[in-house]
Parts: sequence; structure tokens; C-alpha cells
Amino acid sequence: MTSAIDALAADLTLAQSGLKWVNSFARLDPGFYTELQPTPLPSPYWVGRSRALARELGLEDHWLESDEALAALTGNQMLRGSRPLASVYSGHQFGMWAGQLGDGRAISLGEIATAGGAQEIQLKGAGRTPYSRMGDGRAVLRSSIREFLCSEALHGLGIPTTRALCVTGSDALVRREEIETAAVVTRTAPSFIRFGHFEHFSYSNQQVQLKTLADYVIDRFYPACRETKQPYAALLEAVSERTAHLMAAWQAVGFCHGVMNTDNMSILGLTIDYGPFQFLDAFDPGHICNHSDTQGRYAYNKQPNMAYWNLFCLGQALLPLIEEQDQALAALESYKTVFPEALEARMRAKLGLTDAQPEDKALIDDTFRLLSSNKVDYTIFWRRLCGFTPHSGHEPVRDLFFDRESFNAWALQYSERLAPVDIGLRANLMLKNNPKFVLRNHLGEEAIRAAKLKDFSGVNTLLTLLQAPFDEHPGHDRFTDFPPDWAASIAISCSS
Ligand code: AMP
Ligand code: MG
Repeated sequence: MTSAIDALAADLTLAQSGLKWVNSFARLDPGFYTELQPTPLPSPYWVGRSRALARELGLEDHWLESDEALAALTGNQMLRGSRPLASVYSGHQFGMWAGQLGDGRAISLGEIATAGGAQEIQLKGAGRTPYSRMGDGRAVLRSSIREFLCSEALHGLGIPTTRALCVTGSDALVRREEIETAAVVTRTAPSFIRFGHFEHFSYSNQQVQLKTLADYVIDRFYPACRETKQPYAALLEAVSERTAHLMAAWQAVGFCHGVMNTDNMSILGLTIDYGPFQFLDAFDPGHICNHSDTQGRYAYNKQPNMAYWNLFCLGQALLPLIEEQDQALAALESYKTVFPEALEARMRAKLGLTDAQPEDKALIDDTFRLLSSNKVDYTIFWRRLCGFTPHSGHEPVRDLFFDRESFNAWALQYSERLAPVDIGLRANLMLKNNPKFVLRNHLGEEAIRAAKLKDFSGVNTLLTLLQAPFDEHPGHDRFTDFPPDWAASIAISCSS
């Protein structure tokens, strides 16, 4: 995605890091943000670095090893050319209008030009901002490692997401339910604009800013909308489609986000704001991963509807620009066709079906039902299924089910469907769509416990596995085991 904005970068000075700053958001009027500096943290140290992302950003290898990078990415030293700011947004949290929120602990350094288009760089946990409300502006080591690993894991899975370049830690203490230590995640995305940004300017009746923001998003990310009769309705439709694809990807891989408030919904259809997320262990459609979500609003099987609810809020916010309510409603309609189609396509790939047949929907529904009634481990089932041989049965898969009769009936149905499918093509398709490695809660927890003792090897090992989750990685089968009993007692809430 290149644009006029990227071209502007050529005029800007090269900072010592080799970064070319664009800072397009900072050129919007100051009603969108507050310029401020990060608050330094004492004696930072490296916790984890994604060299793969560094390369994509065009960072020189030796820079990410330098003390300058450590200081800059902790917020202790300014990068020449950056223009730090915190943006203002609002949002609906757990279904209720929450009013003004904003970047309470994420400070954006600006956007840098890269071969893949401009990328915004944010330091999450870099100190208080005018939008911190009661918060301390900090992030703890535990949640920073989770965000770092899961961002790179979702990217490895081919799921749209914000990325994470590194985590730096400090022995500075932070009070949560317990006393913990502080950390900063450097995260990147083409933009961190959320549905909540639009809600903010719409609800506060700032129509000029609302239009400026919509035009900025269209010009940078959805230029085709400009060619339509109603660009703002076209924007809503395009965002609905991207969000539908994102939800299909989450559901297919068994990812629960945990806190899908409108301020945590990306206008680019990216997974954003990793908090109480979880990959499913045993398949339980009603699984609630966020301990604070007492009503189960964001349970696994509710996610697609919650995304639609959030899109409806976005549509409401855009109404002053769209003008005709019918056009807004029509734009949202696309979600209802794109989501089921996208989910079905992903599930067919997981089943190794190389073409689409009318009976596939029933097979997919039956598969979900069987996995649910037998509480089968979701990731292990799909990876083992890659070795399924029609009609001869398949012990490693069958062993996962206590209700053998139902399994046998399903296996027969599946075998019949597989009959015309080329075996080689099927295996290939399945191995690329059923990951061997996902960031299960207990794996993250083990790496976090070691990191608290300054042993970061677990973080690094997980990063390597999760960046290539479809590869075999011989010698690392321990990371593909069933969760241990203690995994059920890990409680992750919004507080991080
Ligand atoms: P979240 O539930 O993490 O999406 O956060 C909701 C809002 O609270 C956002 O505006 C965050 O920036 C803000 N927030 C969360 N934690 C903190 C914190 N420790 N300090 C300041 N603001 C925070
Ligand atoms: Mg958030």
C-alpha cells in the first residue's frame, strides 16, 4: 500500500536508526491527539525481539542489537524524526457507551516508510497520557510477552494483525492484583485507528473532524471507495468485509479475543489489543476466556455476532456522513454473506476439501458438533486429521473421541466426501491450514514464569515456533501436547 504519504517520506531526514519518518496522523489537526513524550523506565533490558518484523520494517540488524534501540524502544530516548503522540477515541465497552477513552498507555512515535507502505510504531506501556484516566500508563511483563508472542503468532498463521517488534523490561514495579514489573511492547501496524475513533467524533458532534478522519482512512487505506457514489457507505462496507474475514479466521483457528469492545476493533480489520485472549484447548463453543466477562458476551461462539454489533456502532457513527440510513444498513449487509462464506472456505481447507460441494456445510456443522460433544482438543484434532486415511479409519484421530460410535459415523461421512479428492493435494492443503503450534495459555505462562526470573529462552523458543506454526520443528513436540491440568486454573482478565 503506497501512497502520496510514502513519497513525502523521501524528504525527511534519516534518523540514526535509518528510519524514514512520515508522521501523517500527526499532520491531522490537533483535535485528534496530544503530543507528548514517553516516560522513561529505569535500566531496561531486552525480553524478546522479532527479527523477522525488523527485516520487514527495513531496520538494520545491528540496530536492533544496539543500546540506542533498547533506549528508544523503551521510550527513554527520542528517535530523531519521530513525533510522539497519544490519540483520542471513545467506545462501547461490554455493550455500554463508555465515553472518552484514548491511548491511555500507548504512545505513537509516528509512521515510518517501509517497502510494504507506511507503518505506525507504538510503544505500549510507555507512561501516562491525558487519556490514562485512573491507569498508570504502564503494561506489565506478563501481558507484554503475551501481546508480543500472540501478535507474531497470528501473523504466522496468516491472520491479519498488528505486529510486535520487541518487548523490553525493567525492574520498575507496577501494581495490579499483585505487584509486577513493567515492560514496553513496540507494536506496528499501517494504522491503529479503531471504530472508537469514529464514535468519538460522531458522538461529540464534531462533524468536521469525523469527515477528516473518514477521508484520511479512505485516502490511505480504501482508495477504491473514493470512486463510488457514496464513499462513506463504501468504507463501511469495505470494513464490514475485512472484519468478516477476520472473524472467519479467528473462528477457524479457535482464537478467542476476549474483549471485543468497539475501541478494540481495527478500522483495517486487524486483530488488535491483545489482553485476555486464548486459543481453545478442548473445543467448547461457549468458552469464555476473559475472567472479567461474567456474562460471556465475548464467548468464542459469540464473536462473529459481536463483530457485527460493533460494525453497527461504526455505521451509527458514520451516519452523519452517509446521511441515508438505508445505505448504511445495506453496507452492513455484506457481513452476513461474507462471514459464512469465508468461514466455510476456511473449514473446507482444514478438512482438505479441494473443491466446494453443497453437502460441505452439513459436514462442517457435524464436525463442530462432534468436537463439542466429545470436548476434543481443537488444535490436536485438526493436526492429527491431516494423516486421516478414508475408510481404513485412523487411530490417532479416533483416540480423541470417547463416543466411538458417533466418531465412526462421522468418519464414514468424511471418507465418502474425500473419495474424489487427490490425496497429495489434500495433505498439502491440510498441513498449511491446520497449525501444529498455537500459543496455548499454559505455554505462554511457562515462558512468562521463566522471564520473570530473567530467563528469556522460553519466549525466544515460542517465538520461533509460532512464527512458522505449520512447520514440523522436530524436537519440539512437547509444545504440541495436551494442556496440563494446571492450565485450567490460569485466570486471565482485563487487568494487565
Ligand atoms: P483495554 O481494555 O486494554 O482495551 O483498555 C481500555 C482503555 O483503558 C484504553 O483506552 C486503554 O488505553 C486504557 N488503559 C488500560 N490499561 C491502562 C493503564 N494501565 N494505564 C492507562 N490506561 C490504560
Ligand atoms: Mg484497548
